[in-house]
Amino acid sequence: MRTAVFPGSFDPITRGHTDIINRALPLFDKIIVGIGNNTAKSYMYDLAQREKWIRDIFKAESKVEVITYQTLTVELCRQVGAKYILRGLRSALDLEYEKPIANLNRSLEPGVETIFILASEEYASLSSTIIREVIRYGGDVSKYLPEAVNKKNR
Ligand code: ADP
Repeated sequence: MRTAVFPGSFDPITRGHTDIINRALPLFDKIIVGIGNNTAKSYMYDLAQREKWIRDIFKAESKVEVITYQTLTVELCRQVGAKYILRGLRSALDLEYEKPIANLNRSLEPGVETIFILASEEYASLSSTIIREVIRYGGDVSKYLPEAVNKKNR
């Protein structure tokens, strides 16, 4: 069984994230979306909301599971038997940020490989951080968000 963990904050989940999940689906038997809950971080949407959205979006896709976690990502991988960590790459900046993390994770857990999927061009400039900023000031970002998220922010 080929299981991948897709870790992130998903605050909120965007069409950039769903695009990565949908494109990774043919590669894996199971994708576990791991929603990080870092107590030192403050989020715009609480954990239950972020989790509910992802469950709603993928309710018809049996290969997608959602988990919240507060451990190291490699520890989560160990717990769920995942040999792959899935990440999206939007830019060279993303790559530079991801490189040491992927290397560290491989040294912590040599059996776990990080797999990168390039962001689709239409979503390559999209980040949850930018989305949160626009939502705060009342702008319309609906074309960048899944329907489930739009419903809440309308
Ligand atoms: P984190 O705080 O761990 O970066 P995010 O929720 O911001 O969590 O992102 C989770 C993953 O999704 C990361 O690999 C990130 O690069 C990827 N990602 C975020 N936005 C996009 C996008 N627009 N297109 C492709 N991948 C994306």
